[in-house]
Amino acid sequence: MNSLDQFVLAVIKSPSQYTELDQIYVHNRILGLVGEGDVVAAADEELTSLVDALVTTACQNGKIEDTPSDKEILADQLMDMVTPLPSVLNQSFWDKYQASPQMATDYFFNLSKTNDYIKTRAIAKNVSFPAKTEFGDLEITINLSKPEKDPKAIAAARNQPQDGYPLCQLCMQNEGYLGRLGYPSRSNHRIVRMMLGGETWGFQYSPYAYFNEHSIFLDQVHRPMVINRQTFTNLLEIVNQLPHYFVGSNADLPIVGGSMLSHEHYQGGRHVFPMMKAPVVRAIDLGVEGVDAGIVKWPMSTIRLISKDVVALTDAAVKIHESWIDYSDESVDVRAYTDGVRHHTTTPIAYKDGENYVLDVVLRDNQTSTEFPDGIFHPHQDVQHIKKENIGLIEVMGRAILPARLKTELAEVGKYLLDQPNQMVDMHKKWADQLKSTNIITTENVESVVNAEVGNVFARVLADAGVFKWDETGEAAFDRFVAAINE
Ligand SMILES: [Zn+2]
Repeated sequence: MNSLDQFVLAVIKSPSQYTELDQIYVHNRILGLVGEGDVVAAADEELTSLVDALVTTACQNGKIEDTPSDKEILADQLMDMVTPLPSVLNQSFWDKYQASPQMATDYFFNLSKTNDYIKTRAIAKNVSFPAKTEFGDLEITINLSKPEKDPKAIAAARNQPQDGYPLCQLCMQNEGYLGRLGYPSRSNHRIVRMMLGGETWGFQYSPYAYFNEHSIFLDQVHRPMVINRQTFTNLLEIVNQLPHYFVGSNADLPIVGGSMLSHEHYQGGRHVFPMMKAPVVRAIDLGVEGVDAGIVKWPMSTIRLISKDVVALTDAAVKIHESWIDYSDESVDVRAYTDGVRHHTTTPIAYKDGENYVLDVVLRDNQTSTEFPDGIFHPHQDVQHIKKENIGLIEVMGRAILPARLKTELAEVGKYLLDQPNQMVDMHKKWADQLKSTNIITTENVESVVNAEVGNVFARVLADAGVFKWDETGEAAFDRFVAAINE
């Protein structure tokens, strides 16, 4: 049996709409996609291997060009054949949900892996390690999963009109979209519909996941990110519906937000982040009955709200958010507005702890200055050799997503520390010299020394992004803000 026949059987066995009777039809549909020449053998019987073989077959038959874009589009068309229709998938999800929310997400998550929507093979290339710091064990990851874009695709993406179809990669219109040069293929993409605050939202997994069951919750309407009462309500409603998941929103301003400000969305998943383990060090009184509030021992200025009552919790969060929007404290460089431009917002994160709902509200300020042109509360120049990108939701919670370049660069730093021939990039030299002077470095410990120090740099990165620092001045300033909330 060749890989085409094997794939036909897999399609019929899959939870797709096809049955035994459809065998000839499915065979011919695949022939139409890959062409009628010799069929390339697959490495094994895994679905991804069968699809790889069929994609190579299509290249040989001249059905597609041997380009990343063409190959991805065809692979996802084939994977679409093993995937239930959106209507069927939604029905199954909510049927299983009746038994338990976790059974429903397990079903959807496994399906999204099986049909290669979640790029499990690419994600496996990521580097990840824990790093002990004064703020607990942070999580360091080096992101190697996103494929290098080929220049033709980048050029095509640049030339696309802003009002193209789909409007953006977070729009529902991506479900089943074929894709094109410079725009990802989404034939095998599925979205679960859920109701939030009387409106339809989509729930999907992230193809290049940064942590377990990394999910995206997206507004059915293409409209800009915003943090307001509805955001807090929606986040709490999501963890009410999926109590085994956390969910958070990126801030709604540049520099302190994520990379997609044009489409309202949240990110969630099944992972306990370092920030969630960080303790409350000072209880505070926000004057909202039934809500416990406190300052979290965390490099980014965070108020934790805990309650069984989601309405009270939302009231408390709104109180903090609205106070912060207008709050300035020149003594610590905190300014709500300059020249009429707003700088303040929050990054909220919700999760359940037993019967309690927890809402962590992180204060953000996106000012820039002559001294800090990239941002006053953004990684400063001296740590940008490790991280210069925006500190978004995932990193706020203590999981570093470091650029791919660091994998080779840190190996060169290691060689430098061992006085071996190396090609260390100049920008790491000051840091490396400091490591050399404070550590006894051997071939046995060099990797763990470098990793630990990357952890310390990441803690510094987060501290830079924190508006109130952990020193006498910063803590006093935090207390003044808390007092101002109640005024
Ligand atoms: Zn959109």
